[in-house]
Formats: sequence, C-alpha cells, structure tokens
Amino acid sequence: MLDCKYMKREYVTRAWFLTLLACLALPAHAEWVRRVTDGIMGTRITVELWADDKDKADRAIDAVLDSMRHVDETMSTYKPTSEVSLVNAKAADGPMPITKELFDLLTTAKEYSVITEGAFDITYASVGYMYDFRNHIRPSEGQIQKALPAVDYRHVLLDPKKQTVQFSQKGVRIDLGGIAKGYSVDRGIEVLKSLGFTRAYVSAGGDSRIIGDRFGKPWMVGIRDPTKGEGAVITRIPLVDAAISTSGDYERYFEEDGVRYHHIIDPHTGHSASKVRSATIIGPNATRTDGLSKTAFVLGPEKAMEIYNRIDDIDVIIVKLDGTVIHSKGLEPAH
Ligand code: ADP
Ligand code: MG
Repeated sequence: MLDCKYMKREYVTRAWFLTLLACLALPAHAEWVRRVTDGIMGTRITVELWADDKDKADRAIDAVLDSMRHVDETMSTYKPTSEVSLVNAKAADGPMPITKELFDLLTTAKEYSVITEGAFDITYASVGYMYDFRNHIRPSEGQIQKALPAVDYRHVLLDPKKQTVQFSQKGVRIDLGGIAKGYSVDRGIEVLKSLGFTRAYVSAGGDSRIIGDRFGKPWMVGIRDPTKGEGAVITRIPLVDAAISTSGDYERYFEEDGVRYHHIIDPHTGHSASKVRSATIIGPNATRTDGLSKTAFVLGPEKAMEIYNRIDDIDVIIVKLDGTVIHSKGLEPAH
C-alpha cells in the first residue's frame, strides 16, 4: 500500500518535472498556426501546425498549398491540359510516356483495385464521366451498358521499365478523384516534414493526416454522423501520426424519384454505389485511407469488412444504411 502511494507520488512528480522541462524548451513565441483555403481540387484545405515563427509557418503553408495546386493541375479531369486528361485523350492509341509521379500513383491505384477485389477502380470514369452531380445529370441505362465494358482496371497497362501507360481498348477513361485528395495531403505532409515541422494537421475535404501529437494529447478527429445534419458526429477518434478518410453519400449527390444518385460508382454496374451511408478508414497515409474508403459503398458492409479485416495497417468504421455503426476488429469502442 505504502509502496503503491510512493510510486504514484514519484510518478506525479516526474510528470511535473518533465512538463516543466518541455515548457522551458519551447521557444517563447511558438504557437499553433491554422489556415483554411477553399478552391484547390474543388474542396476545402486546412493546414494547422506548431511553429516557433509565424512567418516561417505562413511560408510553409504556402508551400503545402502550392504542392496541392500542382496535384490539381496534373490530375484533374476538369482541366483539359492536365496530364491525366492527356492520358485519357491518347493512351488508347499506344504506350504513352508519363511522369514518374503519375506512374507511381497509377501503380498504387491498381494495387488498391486488387486489394478491394475491383471495388476501387479508376476506370469507373469510363461511365462516371457521364454523371454531373451538380447539374443532376446521369447517363441513360443504354449509355451505361454501352460504356461499361471499358470499366476494368486491367485495361490500364503500365510498363515500369519504359514508364508508359496504355489503355487496352478505346472508351477507357481514368479519374483519380478517389485517391488524389489523399495523395495531395500526403504530399503536403512531406513538404512540412522536409521543412522540419513535427506537429501538424493537413486535410483536403474528407481526407486528413496528422504528424505528431498536441503536446502529450492526441488530435481529436470527428466522424460525421451521416444520418444527421452537418456538425453532428458519431464519435471522435484520438489520433497521433495517422491518416483518416471518410467517404459519405451526403458529399455530392442529387435525388430523383426517391433514389439518391451520388459520386461513388459501382464499377460492375455503372450505377451509384449505395450499400452504406459512410465509411471511415484510419491508416498510415492518406493515399491509402482515401483509396480504401470507397469499397464499403460498392461491396456492402459485410463483404467490405471481411476485406478490411485482412489489411493489417488500417482500422475502419462503417455507418450502415439503417444508421447502425460497425467497426473493424482492431478498434475498441470507448465506454
Ligand atoms: P471526396 O472526393 O470528397 O474525397 P471520396 O473520397 O468518397 O470523396 O471519393 C469519391 C470520388 O471517387 C468520386 O468523386 C470519384 O471521383 C471517385 N470514384 C467514384 N467511384 C469510384 C470507384 N468505384 N473507384 C475509384 N474511384 C471512384
Ligand atoms: Mg476522398
């Protein structure tokens, strides 16, 4: 009993001492600097970091935003001059040399197609380009059936030696919308790390990544409740050195005759994939968490969870159509 008290006392004292040391080590003007920017990749970007100098922080945030603009310029299918748009225009004609950056991301995308048994598939765009969720436009059943044979990630032929891409048939289109925001977040984090920052948060829409903690405390990231209005959360997850992505059917959608058409497409049918309300993936980097968050919509909660539970480095929370919440085996709900 006495021993126990002593131990505790010593622990508390030590903790105080460490806190004091940590405070002494902090530069006098260090602070959290946060900036929110709209318009890059059609989404909201948030960067928050701990910096000992406000000017240095501002320059670092500028560099993060520049790196995200670069991803937008290279990968957006809305920009006719982007590298991805050029690939869509020419890759069916023969092998086309591309940048290492795009080649590597296409390789990663293919890997996710294999892991998710085809649920994640960037060639969804062969049908997907005919949807315009903002203007409530969707293809007819005839148009879908005609374009559907072009949807298959195996149509994207990558040659690592020559760093080329080729589409095996006409009509194939790719779109990196399901992975590019996560990728841009990872690039942003790399920029901050290279500048020496050790505590930071970067997010683009539903994709976020964190380095470090908040001085002994984790970052708390809320998961939105898809059954309620904006601001309602189902839970908050404590995170340190991790990425988190949420896909939801509330993001970009329109309704017609009681059917919700939204921006995740089932590569097998060409229709909106609506088997869950939302899926949240926690993992080591945001490219991965973004790429894997679409699967539950396409395959449904049970089959998707079976796949997710096989992947060692991720944790998953799914909100099912009836609003119930399920989680992967690595997570324990706090009581
Ligand atoms: P956000 O764009 O807000 O990050 P998500 O991460 O849920 O949303 O990604 C949705 C995007 O993924 C769509 O807008 C589209 O560009 C792309 N996408 C849709 N269906 C698929 C699919 N089956 N496989 C890969 N990407 C997809
Ligand atoms: Mg995303």
